Amino acid sequence: MAYEFYEILEVSRDVSAEELKRAYRKKAMEVHPDRHGGDKEKETLFKEVNEAYATLSDPQKRAHYDRFGTTDMGGGFGGGQGGFHTDMDFSDIFESFFGGGFQGGGARRRTSGVEGEDIEIRVKLDFSEALSGLKKTVSYSRKVVCTECSGTGAKKGTEPKECSQCRWAGQVRRRTQTIFGVMEQTGICDMCHGTGKIIADKCTKCHGERRETQKIEKEIDIPAGIDDGMTIKVRGEGNDGIGSKAGDLYITFNIPNSIDGLTREDTNLFYTTEIDPVEAVLGIKKTLKLPVLGERVLEIKSGTQHGEVLKFKGDGMKHISKDQKGDLFITVNIKIPTHPSKKEREFYHEIAREKKIEVADDGFLNKIF
Ligand SMILES: [Zn+2]
Ligand SMILES: [Zn+2]
Repeated sequence: MAYEFYEILEVSRDVSAEELKRAYRKKAMEVHPDRHGGDKEKETLFKEVNEAYATLSDPQKRAHYDRFGTTDMGGGFGGGQGGFHTDMDFSDIFESFFGGGFQGGGARRRTSGVEGEDIEIRVKLDFSEALSGLKKTVSYSRKVVCTECSGTGAKKGTEPKECSQCRWAGQVRRRTQTIFGVMEQTGICDMCHGTGKIIADKCTKCHGERRETQKIEKEIDIPAGIDDGMTIKVRGEGNDGIGSKAGDLYITFNIPNSIDGLTREDTNLFYTTEIDPVEAVLGIKKTLKLPVLGERVLEIKSGTQHGEVLKFKGDGMKHISKDQKGDLFITVNIKIPTHPSKKEREFYHEIAREKKIEVADDGFLNKIF
């Protein structure tokens, strides 16, 4: 099921969060079962659309899905969160049906609080950091409750006053004509923008925003085996909410997949080295210095062929969540001397005589059958 979610929503793989939301609304409207008299096929489509959006709208789930083409998280990766849970907010859809931020069914949304948003950051790691895992300090900015006004948004010593239109409620009831007939709906008060109060004198520090931006340095435990594009979720380290929990921090890693010829594929490592024909024919134990990994002893057996692969079991990258390691594969290529010395040529002539191979004047060999 490679990347079906993108096809279901008819979006490209690099779709932005905003575009995704628009595409989702459009699709959900199109296939909503209520608009098709409970049509079963449309109901299935509707479920698929919701599942696709639930995954792609969550940065961590999306990163995982992009990588593995599935929503199955496997082990304990992702800050201890086992598997996915769906916490879709269907108010998105209903807003599109009823328009302009109105919702059917009354005061579902607390309007005086501020929801703590998630924050997404990207962090670069180098190859060896991914190999060993590390504690790393990441810097980013997050919104915290304003220390001057404690989140009221009002100037020190003053209090927010009651909104004269909604009287602290933040919402007003209105009757509206919709495609389903006349409906009484609760909408956000436009006078106080849903806060339920009016601030006469704004806080001098946050200018009424209620939160201020703070630079954060946070030490993150990065497990060995982390791979390019993987995301770690740090719960509660997103923006502070007011009367609501803080958002989460999502850290996505950029990691090169090779260093000086040592290449990584998932947990396996690959390297290529060259040996002399003599070494291939006679066999040899030789010490090879690999980037990052250090020295390994190659056991070249007598009669080794060009392109043979030596496997070092369990010498690869650690698996991100399982107690398991990949393997190291070293490909051995035979390097023919491009400019053999005079002495070397003499030895090769001897071999040629032994094999009854006649050397032509122009330097080419003719085998006598
Ligand atoms: Zn109001
Ligand atoms: Zn303030």
